[in-house]
Amino acid sequence: MRFASIGSGSEGNGTLICHKDTVILLDCGFSAKETVRRLRCKGIEPEQLSAILVTHEHGDHIKGVSVLSSQYDIPVYLTWGTFCCKPLQKRPLDERLVNIITPHQSFAVGSIQVQPVPVPHDAREPAQFVFSNERWRLGVLTDVGSITPHIISVYEDCDALLLECNHDLSLLANGSYPPALKRRVAGDYGHLNNQQAASLLQSVYSERMQHLVVTHISQKNNELEKVTDSLVAAIHCCPDWIRMADQDNGFEWMTLTEKVAVSEV
Ligand SMILES: [Zn+2]
Ligand SMILES: [Zn+2]
Repeated sequence: MRFASIGSGSEGNGTLICHKDTVILLDCGFSAKETVRRLRCKGIEPEQLSAILVTHEHGDHIKGVSVLSSQYDIPVYLTWGTFCCKPLQKRPLDERLVNIITPHQSFAVGSIQVQPVPVPHDAREPAQFVFSNERWRLGVLTDVGSITPHIISVYEDCDALLLECNHDLSLLANGSYPPALKRRVAGDYGHLNNQQAASLLQSVYSERMQHLVVTHISQKNNELEKVTDSLVAAIHCCPDWIRMADQDNGFEWMTLTEKVAVSEV
């Protein structure tokens, strides 16, 4: 199983999850044209996409969904609440391509098993996802205001984790956002701050984790050094092991591989 991002942050999101011939695009927060450009930068043609999965209806996750899916006949998977939201009704999806999912039931897309996870976020029926096959588990968790016991139990034992570290609480408090937006971002239905992300990581981390990628980082209310310090303090890992996704390029392909035992020379 391998994965990459075509961009991550409040200006647009898109994550690729790939196993054998199955290629899933998780969220499509760029225009269709821009998404195609970004997919090609990762070596993927839009015709290769098996499905677009949508986490929730905020613009940074759905901007190009309708156009891309109808242009290339790509099935879209989303909850009923997300499907009914105003932004998607304005530019409706082609009904032939719509697959309504429940956030409590796993389903398969080609050779990838997809487990939705209901999360607290200020959207109609938001879900995040754990992707797996017979060997690997990849967890993706962004746009979450607070950590629930269910989230902790589902994200245990992942081989790779893409985790939101949206903001640093004091940078947000002292930053330029208007008070209402500060309250929204920091609230229980907003976004994960560095400390919340670190505490979740501490709960779910195991030796099994090969990759940790930090995603959905606020460009205004966070600093990469603060993110690294929080996560290293939580699991005592090497700082260089933590990767950061960015708005322009996301991150390059990462592959889950069997650990090769180092034989003594
Ligand atoms: Zn978002
Ligand atoms: Zn959101």
